[in-house]
Amino acid sequence: MARILITSAIPYINGIKHLGNLVGSQLPADLYARYMRARGHEVMFICATDEHGTPAELAAAKAGKPVAEYCAEMHAVQAELARGFRLSFDHFGRSSSPQNHALTQHFARRLGENGLIDVVTERQIYSVADGRFLPDRYIEGTCPNCGYERARGDQCENCTKQLEPTDLIEPRSAISGSTELEVRETRHLYLRQSKLRDRLDAWIDSKTDWPVLTTSIAKKWLHDGDGLQDRGITRDLDWGVPAQFPGAPWEGMEGKVFYVWFDAPIEYIAATWEWADAHGLSDSDWHRWWRTDKGADDVRYVQFMGKDNVPFHTLSFPATIMGSGEPWKLVDYIKSFNYLNYDGGQFSTSQGRGVFMDQALSILPADYWRWWLLSHAPENSDSEFTWENFQASVNKDLADVLGNFVSRVTKFCRSRFGEEVPAGGSFGPEEEALIERLRALLGAYEGFMENMEIRKAAGELRAMWVAGNEYLQAAAPWAVFKTDPERAAAIIRLSLNLIRLYAVVSAPFIPDTSERMLAAMRSDDDSWPEDPARALAALPPGHGFTVPDMLFRKITDEEREEWQQRFAGRRG
Ligand SMILES: [Zn+2]
Repeated sequence: MARILITSAIPYINGIKHLGNLVGSQLPADLYARYMRARGHEVMFICATDEHGTPAELAAAKAGKPVAEYCAEMHAVQAELARGFRLSFDHFGRSSSPQNHALTQHFARRLGENGLIDVVTERQIYSVADGRFLPDRYIEGTCPNCGYERARGDQCENCTKQLEPTDLIEPRSAISGSTELEVRETRHLYLRQSKLRDRLDAWIDSKTDWPVLTTSIAKKWLHDGDGLQDRGITRDLDWGVPAQFPGAPWEGMEGKVFYVWFDAPIEYIAATWEWADAHGLSDSDWHRWWRTDKGADDVRYVQFMGKDNVPFHTLSFPATIMGSGEPWKLVDYIKSFNYLNYDGGQFSTSQGRGVFMDQALSILPADYWRWWLLSHAPENSDSEFTWENFQASVNKDLADVLGNFVSRVTKFCRSRFGEEVPAGGSFGPEEEALIERLRALLGAYEGFMENMEIRKAAGELRAMWVAGNEYLQAAAPWAVFKTDPERAAAIIRLSLNLIRLYAVVSAPFIPDTSERMLAAMRSDDDSWPEDPARALAALPPGHGFTVPDMLFRKITDEEREEWQQRFAGRRG
């Protein structure tokens, strides 16, 4: 038995996520966590909401609520949706937790003591009317290059020219519209990542099993241009982890907080601490996942994320950990994803284009979405959600193949033998061939799941469902019954057992349906079918079962067209 620590990139607090966000991190992390638990490993699966930064403040202001209250409410909304999609986090934490405040300040102090933090004086735009410094994105003005009137302080979206806020003509606050702006001096903490470049470089080089997508992004940031740059880790904001605190090795940071990219990954650790506190456990219970001097040296740590998050996880967060000089666990494997597009374009939160998590659950149960999203995960390239493809995949894989098998077998058995596993007959060459086929498919499935090759794993699972259908079709118990009921009994006995086997191996993809299948088989034996031949004898003759309601319904053409219209844009 191994110990596996799994973290999903933490979703930002301001709003409900779309299906592209879900499949880019949380959902595949859940698949892996469920599989590893099913194989008997000890798993700690952590996620949280990312609650700091200007967007949270602005969203709260727009909602007319104090930011702490807004974040608490949105955390509850996201947690409920996570439960709706059956994301099996051991803990879904909050980056605004006291634990994360304490750990973020702890890491900052250690980095400061190790000479890895500088105090840098910068000139920034201050809005007198708003009473605050404005980050680049919150300053608008006329582009000096093309004359576009709504250019942002970091970039003109019309001509794409990179800008400094001081380049803008007639700059104004994007918050209040005020033009009463001044350039003022302000001091910030910088993390001297450049001093850790060689260590990071060697560490990345040691990760020979990582996908090139991941290592090439890290290498680019390490070596392009002047190489890895030092980064500001504080901001002039109210909401966040205070950068001035008792024991801080610097002065004059009052009124400043750590920037969200610094404290967000630390929340992986803090959320595990939150988990221990929530369960009345001790520090040693979370240390054994994170401190290599306290039991975490045999932990395998796997992170899931979209490709845009790779730089923070291959460089910034490791720099924080290495620079602390303390034995915290570094990531062992990063599984990163490309983007899921939506019906010929992109998902868009601002335009409400695409299906969002709450909407998805309002029209179909979680398993329909889980199956499609995971079996089409954007692993090696971007992938695209279309309603035609979704309809075809649900109707064929789930309804026609898996659902139909369960329905036919249980109903036929009820009508001919009653609601119990029939006795009599024995397995012949057809059953032997099926078992051999399942053994091969299951082995391949396990290999892909271990390696987090999700689409390929889904393909093997589908092939197992198809194998059962083909067997049933060829063995034709409904025809055989007329001349040889004993033979029909053997076929059905195997098929009922196959339903239990399907329930177990399908559970990481479609957990609710798996539970229903096990319940219909009146079995609580969810042990992994290490040996398919033995697993297919788990339910003995005389074992009772019930015919379940239809497992999956088909999506009609009318529904497909209606949903296509409804989610084309302008949510709400
Ligand atoms: Zn421009």
